[in-house]
Amino acid sequence: LHDRDGWIWLDGDWLPWREARVHALTHSLHYGMGCFEGVRAYQGPGGTHLFRVAEHTRRLLDSAHALDIPLPFDADTLIQAQRESLARNALANAYLKPTVFLGAEGLGLRAKGLTTHVMLPAWDLGDYVSAQAAAIGLRALTSSWARHHVNISLCRAKTNGHYVNSMLALNTAVKAGFDETIMLDPEGYVAEASAANVFLLRDGELHTPEVTSCLEGITRDSVIRLAREVLGIPVVERRLTRDALYLADEAFVTGTAAEILPLRELDGRHIGGRAGAPAVGEPIAHDSVTARLQRLYRDVTRGVPGPALEAFGDWLTPA
Ligand code: PMP
Repeated sequence: LHDRDGWIWLDGDWLPWREARVHALTHSLHYGMGCFEGVRAYQGPGGTHLFRVAEHTRRLLDSAHALDIPLPFDADTLIQAQRESLARNALANAYLKPTVFLGAEGLGLRAKGLTTHVMLPAWDLGDYVSAQAAAIGLRALTSSWARHHVNISLCRAKTNGHYVNSMLALNTAVKAGFDETIMLDPEGYVAEASAANVFLLRDGELHTPEVTSCLEGITRDSVIRLAREVLGIPVVERRLTRDALYLADEAFVTGTAAEILPLRELDGRHIGGRAGAPAVGEPIAHDSVTARLQRLYRDVTRGVPGPALEAFGDWLTPA
């Protein structure tokens, strides 16, 4: 990823991709104190648009504020830089990773006078998963690693250091032959997947964990609003147990990269199997709620005319 052409915005300057380096003593590299976002831009019939860039940028500012990291750039500057990075790098479909980190003026937990830096790399990303993989979905294992406790980490902040915990959980599941992991909070209730929120459908209602141990995902919010306002499906935010997932009619995970991916199996249980859903490994039913939400989300992110774009056209910002 580092050895290629392109431009990276760093602290207000555009640097050639290969020259966007930081010092070995960069504080955030040593202790994980920093925060970031994952944002996407999609090409559609109306050109390229950033999807919910205002909400992502606000979450970046909120993460920095919660971590008590002073940020030298305001939201407008950061949004403008994200738009410009698409043009400079000639990107039509992209993943952008604005990242806030602390400089190399000192080391140690008590270091004072550290500069806040902001970098903005962006690269080409078409479909993160193929249409086939998005229809087949995931086999997951409940993790033996607990997700964060609200009194240990700031779960609303998208903190770099949080991802050690995500990777311990994901790597354990992948080594055991699974695609994904479902993490429980320290009390044993469902929190989220390694880098995605989780939903289940039961008796025509969607349920998702309340925002305590999970990130307040922007895709989670998009799905809640599409379900309620376009499909008329009630959504309940509450504590969920892992057996609620076992007994769900449908389940899926949501995230900027993953978009909406069906969760087909958890701990060897075929989710929806009781209700006669297609076998794990076969595509989900075209008329399932998961598939309907996938289509609405695809249309609204790509700016394809339809009910989702009519309701939520303001989620798109022209590149
Ligand atoms: N949880 C975690 C831990 C994540 O890293 C992500 C990805 N940002 C999400 C949930 C989903 O959030 P979003 O929909 O905003 O991408």
